[in-house]
Amino acid sequence: MSTTLTVEPINAFQDNYIWLLHNGEQAAVVDPGDAAPVQAALAQRSLELTDILITHHHFDHTGGVETLKSTLGCRVSGPINPKIDPIDNRLAEGDTLTVLGTDFSVIEVPGHTLDHIAFVGDGIVFCGDTLFAGGCGRVFEGTFPMMRSSLGKLRDLPADTLVYCAHEYTLANLRFAAAADPNNAQLKARIAYCEGLRDQDKPTVPSRIADELETNPFLRWDAPGVISNLSAKEKLSGSDSDDVFAGLRQWKDTF
Ligand SMILES: [Zn+2]
Repeated sequence: MSTTLTVEPINAFQDNYIWLLHNGEQAAVVDPGDAAPVQAALAQRSLELTDILITHHHFDHTGGVETLKSTLGCRVSGPINPKIDPIDNRLAEGDTLTVLGTDFSVIEVPGHTLDHIAFVGDGIVFCGDTLFAGGCGRVFEGTFPMMRSSLGKLRDLPADTLVYCAHEYTLANLRFAAAADPNNAQLKARIAYCEGLRDQDKPTVPSRIADELETNPFLRWDAPGVISNLSAKEKLSGSDSDDVFAGLRQWKDTF
């Protein structure tokens, strides 16, 4: 069964997005790092919270869970990681979670953290800190090949899938993308478009997988322009896709 849900951002901390899904009466949130802005958004819209979805254990994604669960009694679903508590429903690759009548399939996308999962359904992916608009998360717990494999799963989603990542990092990501992929005309157009959105204080998220395929260097490990540019800058240690991805990610870490 599938319904089309409304998805809205709730701003938290400096640059986090807590995603609010709702059908006008009931709601779910993804990665509530802070309870207060969620409680305010629910009250403002007169919504009942039924579900919390968690992508990974970092505090800016889970810090509000305990308060929301204890005050509202909703179901909490997330990765198999004892660090995340309370949790009702621990999910792994291939599991299906039904939220507000819509089925989401779970994919494991380790790399940023080892427990990281993403939720795919209704033409949407909630991908936490794995894939960002124009970039990807830092590789804290996994390896570069692991992260590339996880991004490969997201790259293979239908091109019109809407990408709901958990941070507004887009302009900084695209500045790096312009250095990594300097002759990409679609990237230049995307930068202008996203600068216009930010000038009006609007989110640049969601993007589409198609946008990321065209302009996100971290999904373009096989793009000749990215490879030749990395090589010219002496940031390439070998010739396979994992070397390209590692070269990009290490360059971005010090950019
Ligand atoms: Zn994180």
